[in-house]
Amino acid sequence: MKCPRDGTILSKVSLLGVELDKCHRCDGIWFDRGELDRIRDSGVTDAEEVLEKRYGNPKAVAEKVEGHMRCPRCDGRLQRFSYSYIEAVSVDRCEKCLGLWLDDGELNAIAGQKKKMDKELDPGRLKSFLRSIGRLFGKE
Ligand SMILES: [Zn+2]
Ligand SMILES: [Zn+2]
Repeated sequence: MKCPRDGTILSKVSLLGVELDKCHRCDGIWFDRGELDRIRDSGVTDAEEVLEKRYGNPKAVAEKVEGHMRCPRCDGRLQRFSYSYIEAVSVDRCEKCLGLWLDDGELNAIAGQKKKMDKELDPGRLKSFLRSIGRLFGKE
């Protein structure tokens, strides 16, 4: 499989038991359908750092492609797609096989959201919030 941006042969990398295809030139990553959801649900927030530590960190030169990029898997057209989880992140999705191409930084933008949400629902913070309400009503 080749990078849709620069034609570099994608290398197999593995992250949390999921096999991904990564471009070592521009740092983009190909996710087959469902793979990104698995990474996201694992709650890992530094996925890109983990990959960079293991496989190196090339200078990100995400080349602009004229017209549509082509899917490395099935040669379908990649289209801008709003990957919506908590906050939408704009990525490239194949209209045929529904695989996703993520440029440098986009993986962390998606995977980091779960952690952010968990923090907002942190039980410690909730407790202190309830305590401050209790104080309002003269308890404590
Ligand atoms: Zn590339
Ligand atoms: Zn495809």
